[in-house]
Amino acid sequence: MDTTVKHPAMNRNQRTQALTHDLAWQVSQPDAVFPARSLEGIRIHDWSALRQPLQPSVEQYWKVQGDKDKRLYAITDAFAQNNGQLGLSDARFANAIKLLLQAFSPIEYSAHRACARAARQLGLTTVAFQAADHLRHNQLEIHATSHFNKYFNGMHSYTEWFDHHWMLSVAKSYADDLLSAGPFEVMVAMAVGYNPVICNTLYVSYMSAAADNGDMSTSSAGLTAQSDKVRHQAAGLAWVEFLVQQDPANVPLVQAWIDKWFWRSVRLSSLVGVMQDYMLPFHSHSWQEIWTTYVQQPLQQIFETWKPLGLTLPSNWAQACEQQAHVSHQTWLRLCRYSAGLPLHVWAPNASALDWLSQKYPGTFDAMFRPHLMGLAHQIAHGQRPQETTAPVLCGTCQLPVPGMAGSAALAQAKNLQGRCFCSLPCQHIFNLDADKHSAQAASSAQRHSWALPASQAADGGLFDGSQDEHNFEEWNGGAQHP
Ligand code: ZN
Repeated sequence: MDTTVKHPAMNRNQRTQALTHDLAWQVSQPDAVFPARSLEGIRIHDWSALRQPLQPSVEQYWKVQGDKDKRLYAITDAFAQNNGQLGLSDARFANAIKLLLQAFSPIEYSAHRACARAARQLGLTTVAFQAADHLRHNQLEIHATSHFNKYFNGMHSYTEWFDHHWMLSVAKSYADDLLSAGPFEVMVAMAVGYNPVICNTLYVSYMSAAADNGDMSTSSAGLTAQSDKVRHQAAGLAWVEFLVQQDPANVPLVQAWIDKWFWRSVRLSSLVGVMQDYMLPFHSHSWQEIWTTYVQQPLQQIFETWKPLGLTLPSNWAQACEQQAHVSHQTWLRLCRYSAGLPLHVWAPNASALDWLSQKYPGTFDAMFRPHLMGLAHQIAHGQRPQETTAPVLCGTCQLPVPGMAGSAALAQAKNLQGRCFCSLPCQHIFNLDADKHSAQAASSAQRHSWALPASQAADGGLFDGSQDEHNFEEWNGGAQHP
């Protein structure tokens, strides 16, 4: 009689590994099933060597996300039912919500598409979860901010503006660059650019400050998103290590993507910088402090551990760190100069805000930026509109306006082929690495641009002083004065 042989049960680690690492799917023709794996020059010899930390099983993933969503929706519904818009620190703060919705929520959607494509080409469940996470973040942000859309201008056409507005082409060009990258590059971009530079500043420090300014709705969405970002970060670092350990020929390719995506993310983070320094009526930490704590120090530690792997800090590291003393002020001043063409409101900071900035940026703010901002306040007080009448010159890569004022020496304007302008040498370098792609992007961006809002949307832009938002908020609060 045959005896049934009982296999020993797997222990918990083995079971998790079996459930999450792959589908145990042996592909007879991998080149046909995963054609994009061979297009970027990356060599992988052993896919089983990839670590996937903090990886849940499919069952666990949907349960945990569902529980988190239930908690979040309870908060956003309570916020709406209790007229949460009345508890904002000031109507100026609503402009930070607008910028989040206009610039960063669409990037989450693009990151969803880029990761979904990468998951298909790489055949990794961890990337498929990340794709689902980004879609969830996009939807949560739309839902959490929808309440404000009933009470403030500047939120109703954000997807259209994302595609057409010059200021939002900073975010649009970033999203398009991500969407047109190969799967290996996408995952490096998320690991060393989007996650450590944008998510760590936007979803942790900015969202905490948003809660201090009375916005429990968006800040709760941001904080629930950040719990996913922790998983992305751990998986991303393991991904970079896996690539460079697989073959020495991968090291220069990965390093080039690190250089590129760190810099692209740094330039995009200028928008987080103005949200942090200029759009929070109740101040929190300065952008430079946030940068040092959440970007500079953690990345320095990570790259220290990567030294034996042959990876170094991004080539533009020193320049990136140096410009954080200037970038929020430069960007805000430029937004003010082009206020007529913005889908949100801008203003001159009041005396106490100027003093706060002066204290946070000793040595640079008073000398370089305070006089400009005081001049702006003077103009507005005398009924003058600080408006440029022509479209701004945008950087050929990052699409931020090219600096035309005194600032960091390293940010000196650089020019390149065909007379194209760049905000900086790293942007020029990135453009030249793939000139065809970036030329096409810049050309389509120039065609898309409308630098001014149509007359029917005039209430969405311009100066905060005298705006419908300002008027409404004062009326709701009985004409009270705000910070
Ligand atoms: Zn640039």
